Amino acid sequence: MWQQFALYRDQQKSIDSIFDALKEGLSEATLMFPTFNWDFCQNKPFDYRNSEGKTGLLGNYALKRNDFKRTRHPIYSFAVSGKYANELLNLDNKSSFGSDSPFGKLYDYNGKIVMIDTNLQRSFTYAHFIEQKYGVNYRYEKEFCAPYIDENGNQTQRCYTMFVRDLDLGVITHLEPLERVLIREGVIKVYTFGRVNIKVLDARLVYDRVVNELQRNPHFIIRFEKDIPYTQGQAMHSLAKELYPINRSLSGEGVRETLAILQRENPELKIHAIQSGTEVFDWSVPKEWNCKEAYIITPDGQKICDYSKNNLHLMQYSIPFNGEMELEELQKHLYSYNPLPDAIPYVTSYYKERWGFCISSNERKKLKKGRYKVFIDSTLEDGVLNYGDILIPGKTDQEVMFSTYICHPSMANNELSGPILATYLAKYIKQLDNHYTYRFVFAPETIGSLIYLHNRLDHLKRNLKAGFVLTCVGDEKDHSYLASRYGDTLADKVALHTLKHHAPSFTKYTFLDRGSDERQYCAPEIDLPFCSVMRTKYGKYPQYHTSLDNLDLITPKGLQGAYDIYAKIIDTLEQNFYYKIQVLGEPQLGKRGLYPTMTKTDTDYTQAFLYRNFLAYADGSNDLVDIAEIIGAKATDLIDVAKIMLKHRIVEKL
Ligand SMILES: [Zn+2]
Repeated sequence: MWQQFALYRDQQKSIDSIFDALKEGLSEATLMFPTFNWDFCQNKPFDYRNSEGKTGLLGNYALKRNDFKRTRHPIYSFAVSGKYANELLNLDNKSSFGSDSPFGKLYDYNGKIVMIDTNLQRSFTYAHFIEQKYGVNYRYEKEFCAPYIDENGNQTQRCYTMFVRDLDLGVITHLEPLERVLIREGVIKVYTFGRVNIKVLDARLVYDRVVNELQRNPHFIIRFEKDIPYTQGQAMHSLAKELYPINRSLSGEGVRETLAILQRENPELKIHAIQSGTEVFDWSVPKEWNCKEAYIITPDGQKICDYSKNNLHLMQYSIPFNGEMELEELQKHLYSYNPLPDAIPYVTSYYKERWGFCISSNERKKLKKGRYKVFIDSTLEDGVLNYGDILIPGKTDQEVMFSTYICHPSMANNELSGPILATYLAKYIKQLDNHYTYRFVFAPETIGSLIYLHNRLDHLKRNLKAGFVLTCVGDEKDHSYLASRYGDTLADKVALHTLKHHAPSFTKYTFLDRGSDERQYCAPEIDLPFCSVMRTKYGKYPQYHTSLDNLDLITPKGLQGAYDIYAKIIDTLEQNFYYKIQVLGEPQLGKRGLYPTMTKTDTDYTQAFLYRNFLAYADGSNDLVDIAEIIGAKATDLIDVAKIMLKHRIVEKL
């Protein structure tokens, strides 16, 4: 039982009734109230009978009742009562959060942790038990020695340990993201009684859930004082590494394998399947393609173009083949790319049945005359085409959508950077108290977005406010922007404003330079509000669609840059309301503490002018980005201004 709430003085009488109700309602249970006290760490004596708990009223009150007793650890002690009280009182743990501590028993018996009117950040000491049991590397066991006065009043010098932060690393416990995730997933149950909210979680369940996250991100429940650069960028890059070798195509096993990994990252991801041959607008869903093995044997017995070494060697959707031929005949089936003589090009033939191999020009030049064996163990059969989507509900049905593709095999920028950014933006949104409903689509390019539109066009036309195609977002070159058909949607407006202020050297492309799924989303009559913010655009870097678009081309820094821009776009969209002033004439900001009340020549009016300029255009006809554009401010700076004005009821959201 955790609590840290402050009862008002006149409500203290009610405490007895709380205890009596708890004891009656939970007669089979063991109650534990924290009575932590950190004096011992500062070499001050711990007095078992008299040292007060510093963790809330209920613990100290419990210590005064004769049905509660205190556990022995001088730093992390509990007032306990009930079934397992004696077991807890007999513990003689030296380590604060060890398995032999009361925290360990909480885990062993799968206790319930109850937080009354508080949050994880302020009260979840159990996190340190999890960190110790799991063995995080940013904490270590430190010894503290000080006088200990036991229950009989005898004083001795004793030593205890605590799993403490490594101060050199500048680590800070950071539990807000965890709390949001746990509430969203229902691991934390929240009950509200009048003004008080009570959160309940299972010790085992929360342990498993946190460990799961720690395995993925060892820094999940901390942040660093000096923010380590590219936190998400690094995590994204390692996810790209995992996905890189998988044999993706329009359909098949590799697509399912990829979606399963993305689903592990965001368990909300749903995987859909559509039958081969299904008519979709002017297209039909192609057959399912899979390939186990493919290679060529040269006249001198060498294996070349081995699909298992690099999946770009085989033309996508190659039909099965097993036979021999002269070099001259084989040449008709080989594809290379002279401008980059060491690169294997990426070649597909989705809608015409043929076979082919892709080879670097340098390797191709070395081929000698003679008979070659060709083996392709592929299948091209009726099956399904898979795609995935994530829906994160918001306060409104109005939606923001991110679409990315999963059909290219081993290519890093012009493929993997999109799905991994989408994955991490979904994680970002789950930490927000989001206004919009967010939709993420992971589908093969072109046919996938057509399928997605075919099934949901009416819904999207009704609800979609802004959409973005995520592709080529991993290199370190400048950012770029590709407009919607007319460049006039909310997505365009927010993207342009964000880039102008946060990446001013970006390159601007029109819809005439299009090449990805905006071709479908912005087509006439579909006309969804889609644009694309990229780093170096597809087709504008030499390694594009070759084996040199590899994991060296995308970097944690490059990915982080794209993530940061999109996070700002999301933040801006979330607050992009129309605001209307509620006062005639200029409001008096001084009486609300929003304006310097003394006028001197060196008074700083910057913030006050920002307030006044915001208010001057908050006439109900401009949204946040409009106002930012008019007054030459960053929309991200106006987010707080708008919140302050709303709080003081100077403006109203329309
Ligand atoms: Zn491509």
